[in-house]
Amino acid sequence: MAATQKHYANDGSHTTSYYAASANTHVLRSELVGDQTFDICVVGAGYSGLSTALHLAEKGYQVAIIEGARIGWGASGRNGGQIVNGLNASLQTIDRRYGKDTANFVAGLVTEGGDIIRERVAKYDIKCLKKTNVFTAYTSAHMRELEDRLELWRGYGIENQEMIGKEGIGKYVGSDAYAGGMIDHSGGHMHPLNLALGEAEAFEKNGGTIFEMSMVHNVDYDAKKPVVTTEKGTITCNTLVLCGNAYLGHVVPTLTHRVMPVSTQIMATQPLGEDLAKRLLPTDTCVEDIRYILDYYRLSADNRLLFGGGTVYGGTDPKNIEAKLRRTMDKVFPELRNTQIEYAWSGNFALSFSRVPQMGRLNDNTYFAHGYSGHGVTGSHTFGRILSEAIDGDRTRLDVFADVPWVPFPGGRMFRVPYSVIGSWYYGFKDRFGL
Ligand SMILES: Cc1cc2nc3c(=O)[nH]c(=O)nc-3n(C[C@H](O)[C@H](O)[C@H](O)COP(=O)(O)OP(=O)(O)OC[C@H]3O[C@@H](n4cnc5c(N)ncnc54)[C@H](O)[C@@H]3O)c2cc1C
Repeated sequence: MAATQKHYANDGSHTTSYYAASANTHVLRSELVGDQTFDICVVGAGYSGLSTALHLAEKGYQVAIIEGARIGWGASGRNGGQIVNGLNASLQTIDRRYGKDTANFVAGLVTEGGDIIRERVAKYDIKCLKKTNVFTAYTSAHMRELEDRLELWRGYGIENQEMIGKEGIGKYVGSDAYAGGMIDHSGGHMHPLNLALGEAEAFEKNGGTIFEMSMVHNVDYDAKKPVVTTEKGTITCNTLVLCGNAYLGHVVPTLTHRVMPVSTQIMATQPLGEDLAKRLLPTDTCVEDIRYILDYYRLSADNRLLFGGGTVYGGTDPKNIEAKLRRTMDKVFPELRNTQIEYAWSGNFALSFSRVPQMGRLNDNTYFAHGYSGHGVTGSHTFGRILSEAIDGDRTRLDVFADVPWVPFPGGRMFRVPYSVIGSWYYGFKDRFGL
């Protein structure tokens, strides 16, 4: 079965997002037609694929990216734009589950993805970036959780965070909802589709080839040289990298059940004007709270509030996104009660049961990366670099991740969605009561 076709429009157009409406470029790349050969073929033009491909092209490899729709069509072109350091699973969890060595290793790379993004943006002049992110706390239990996180990260030598008390949070967020928070001075936010488009252009400047509107419906990685097949052509390569993430569907069955698609939604208000925008987010930081099912928001370049939240296990799109998000947004910012919503969209990320993203090899010449569990902007950039190192001959960092055991979702294929919903009720209950 092909990738999750139901999500794709016939013309491959981007979702109805504010980002698609404000993209820096609208260049269309051609489809794959006929049988072609490349040294390396990357499936998926999201950050995982683009990051891997750009690193390799910079090293001089001959690389093609093959994308079922358009560049950044998946999560990468429609996400909350929050550049959050770290993987979704906390260092504490990684330490507890996989041991001190793995935790030390992960601590060494939690800020790498943000650095790669800033380097790319500076080197290739990609217009998309703003500075800092703030994590907000609703309760004293949340504050303690943030304090523990800060202490833990300091223990690993990461010094870029600072606690903010109840009295200080208003400097960053114009809302009475919070008990305080924590600022990460090395975080940030950006226009996600423009980052993907800029990276695609950079890849092409380095000699890379991109095929759009070329859905891979068969992957033969058992052959001596891997072959991917679309409706109109094939690519035969020495090395294949699978970066379809939540949208890869059942194309590579062995990867399908390692992760579960989960949708989350975002809406964009009408432009608020400078005064109101400054009252809501005086320092133009992005914000996410630290609940299990969290809200995340930030200002666009034209002063809209982009407000996201909620999850649907299994990756379906809710019928009325505004109805789903409006109540929460109005609670955080009652001033916005009568503000119009001009865009609303949904997208899928890939959840892994442990929330640790996965990367590895299916055999000597086929690699994959996926499962950033909703926090993949930085992780996908780091994984792209690690994949490129491995393909270039140094598998040290890849092997650490490849050796981390992945945990199957309870309930198997039939029941993993309902079981996860039940699990999320428990966490939703904790969220509601601030536990
Ligand atoms: C609404 C939303 C908000 C989010 N907010 C944040 C955030 O604020 N901060 C954060 O850190 N993370 C966030 N995330 C997660 C983050 O966006 C992802 O983890 C990250 O973009 C994953 O990148 P990727 O390249 O692995 O996958 P994707 O960006 O999904 O790219 C996969 C690509 O592969 C293509 N593809 C799939 N199958 C095939 C096939 N068979 N043939 C050809 N092409 C194929 C798809 O069309 C797609 O373009 C959010 C996710 C969503 C959905």
